[in-house]
This record gives sequence, structure tokens and C-alpha cells, in this order.
Amino acid sequence: MNTTFFEAFLVFTQVQTGIFIALLIGLFILLKYLEKKEIINLSARLMLATFLGLGLGLAILLVAGMPETPLAVTWINEVRTWYGLVADGFMALLRMLVVPLVLVSIIRVIVNMEGGKSVGKLVSRGVGMLIATTLIGATIGIFFAQIFGLGTGAELVYGSEEVREMTSIVSTIFNLIPDNPFAALSAGAIIPVIIFATFVGFAIRMQRGKDVKVVQPFIDFNEAVYAIIMNMAQTVIGWLPYAIIALLANTIASRGLQVFVEVAAFAGVFVLSVLVMFSVHLVILTLNGLNPVKYVQNIGKALILAFTSRSSLGTLPASIETLTQNAGLNQGTATFVMSLGANGGMNGSAGIYSAMISIMIANMVGHPVDVTFIVMLLLVVALSSFGIAGVPGGIMLTISIPLTALGLGEYFALTAAVFAIDPILDMFRTFVNVSGALTTSLVVGKSLDEVDTTVFNAAVVEGPVKA
Ligand code: ASP
Repeated sequence: MNTTFFEAFLVFTQVQTGIFIALLIGLFILLKYLEKKEIINLSARLMLATFLGLGLGLAILLVAGMPETPLAVTWINEVRTWYGLVADGFMALLRMLVVPLVLVSIIRVIVNMEGGKSVGKLVSRGVGMLIATTLIGATIGIFFAQIFGLGTGAELVYGSEEVREMTSIVSTIFNLIPDNPFAALSAGAIIPVIIFATFVGFAIRMQRGKDVKVVQPFIDFNEAVYAIIMNMAQTVIGWLPYAIIALLANTIASRGLQVFVEVAAFAGVFVLSVLVMFSVHLVILTLNGLNPVKYVQNIGKALILAFTSRSSLGTLPASIETLTQNAGLNQGTATFVMSLGANGGMNGSAGIYSAMISIMIANMVGHPVDVTFIVMLLLVVALSSFGIAGVPGGIMLTISIPLTALGLGEYFALTAAVFAIDPILDMFRTFVNVSGALTTSLVVGKSLDEVDTTVFNAAVVEGPVKA
């Protein structure tokens, strides 16, 4: 057999390659065993996977004698290619779900909005404020990411030397109009897909008013597709522990210990941004005549549940219950805004997190973060803030949207290291997502005179809060 067979086809020329592939498989078997025997739950397995991935990445570097440029070592490159099958394969599976998820969930959100002229104000104010607060979140994320220089110094010079051609705002906006929805779907051009889905959603609503029988099968079909995709999403996210080992090991093996500094910096800046955003919620409440201390006391339980469950959807019943029972908000408003907030307009996920990831990657690859970039980023955040799944790690399914829209889609894999600590970031994201939706519910409710202030200002009613 010639060497090309081993080099180019098997990508396996040295014994270290075999040892590290075997090690990865061994760790997978261990994880599978822990899962099967239900010894530890998913969150604990994610933590364990993070440590195993770190250990594996370090072991690769140590065995190679801590090389200056790890990728110059042949066997590290081979190991990376094989680990990539799992790591990049996982990222590809996440991307696989983006287009169908966005299409179906946006149609669904619009169809399920409780319409009618009487609640027109509720809809416009609810949607408007969720988007506005998400944009504030994105701005905070951009600000801190830039102040702390996230992603700078990563020395990943991907950016080409040639001057990028500047597209005018007119043609940028024009390009978002879906002239061919099928082309947009197959190209994964998310913004045109979002716009198309919005049209479909409103058309269904109008048609439903005329003849419900005609559109009902489509609505049911859409609901079924949504359930199927969410099921697939759950399966794919369930593979996260395995992917994390390969992703982390690969990132550390190819980029060295610098990754630790990057991830720690990202986490620190993210938590800081979340706290600032939470303070913004308190200020918004105060400006609208709602006591922020009472707010925290009244709906604290929902916030704690959001933090620990990492799911806006899972927290939904508790959020609605606390809003109506403890904060004196009318049931309809609470249900409408909170349901909307569990599917989008998420201050932490669509706002802070998306913005910070985009800025970090732009800095990593040397893409200029100028006014055009920031305006585009905010535009994309606003447009794509609905259609996120309010489940643990839900944003992972759609985080490629801003990156693709900003022309950074090919660097999606650079998010891998941050993904590894996702469960921790997710707690903070979900906390501030739910707080954003609760604040919106109360402020919109107040503006429609639907908050019973005697209940809001009264002592907290102790009652069971269910997930
Ligand atoms: N876990 C988040 C939520 O449910 C979504 C995410 O950021 O992954 O709100």
C-alpha cells in the first residue's frame, strides 16, 4: 500500500493518531455508560465533558511537547481531522436545523398571536418592546465586547488583504427582500427566510378570517413540523456532551492554551453585560412607575427557575403564575407577552450573546468592527430576534444567523470553545431573557392599565411555583 493511502485517504500515518482516536472513543463509551445507567444527569455530563475535553486537548499538547505551532505537527493535524468528524459534524447538524426551525417557528409565532383590533396595541407594544430591549442588550454586548477587546490578539489572520467592497445601505436592504424564497431557503439566507415567513404568517391570519377550513390543514401541518424539529433539536442538543469533548480537544490542540484566556474573558464580559442589562430592566420598571424592589420580590421565583432550568419555555407557567398572582397583571397580557418572550425577543440570547459572539469572531479574524458592521449587526439582531427556541442551549441552533448575515458564517466553528461552557452562560442568558419578558409584560400591562398596583405593591403571596 502506498503512503497516499494512509496520508490522504486514512489520514493516519503515526501511532499517536491511533492512540488519541482510541482515547476519544473510550471517553464516548464512558459518557454513554453514564447516560445509560442514569448515573449523572445531562448538566453534570456536560460539566464532565468539558473537563474531559480540556484534559484531552492538554494531553495532545503535552505529548507533542508543547509545540509553538501545534498544527505544524503532522499527527496533531491528523487527530484534528478525525476529531473534526464529531466536532464539525455536530456544528453541521446544528446548522441543519436553522432554516426549517426559523421558517416554521416564525409562521407559528405570528399565527398564534392573539389578534383582533382590541389587542392590536398589546401586540404592537409587546413585540416592539421585546425588540427594543433586545437591541439594548445587543448594544450593551457590543460595548463591553469592544471595551474589553474580546477576540483581539487571537492571531487568526483569516481576513484577506484586499479591500472589501462596500455595499450601500440601499442594496443591503434590497438584498434582504426574498425575490426567490426557495433560493433563500436552500442558500440558508436567513433574513429573506424570516421576511418570507412573516408574510406567510400574516397571510394565514387573513385567510383564517375568511375561511378557516382552507388554512387549518396548513396550520396543523406547521404545528406538526415544529414539533418534529423541536424533537430533532432535543436529540442533537443531547449529543452536546460528546461534541464538547471533541470540540474542546480540537480547539486546544490547534490553538494552544490561549483558548482558556479567551473563554474566561468571554464568560466574564458576558456575565457583566447580563448584570448591566438586568439593571436596565429595573430602571425601565422604575421609569414606568413600578417599584423595582417589589418586582424582584414578586417574580424572584420565576427568575430563579429560569436560571436553574435554563429554559424560558419551561419557566413559562411559573412566569405567568407569578405575574398574575404576585404582580397583579392581567392574565391575557401575561400569557401573550411571556409566550412571545419564550420564542424570541430574548434580551440575553438574541441580544447580548449574539452581539458578543459576532464581535468576538469579527475581532478574531480581523474583520473591521466599524459603524457599518455595528448597524448591520443591530439590524440582524432586530430581524432575527424571533424564532429562537426557549430550551436549554436553544440559541446554539440559531447563533449562526448573525454570523452568516455579517459574512462571518465560515468562521462558525470558532464559537466552539465558548460552546464548551454553554451551560453556565445559558443560566445567565435565560435569567435575563425571562427578566426581559417579565419587564415587558409589566410595562406593557401598565401602559394598558392592566396592572393591579395594590397587588403589585402588596406583600408577596407565598405559593408553589411549578416549572
Ligand atoms: N436557554 C435559553 C432560553 O430558554 C435559550 C438559549 O439562549 O439557549 O431562554
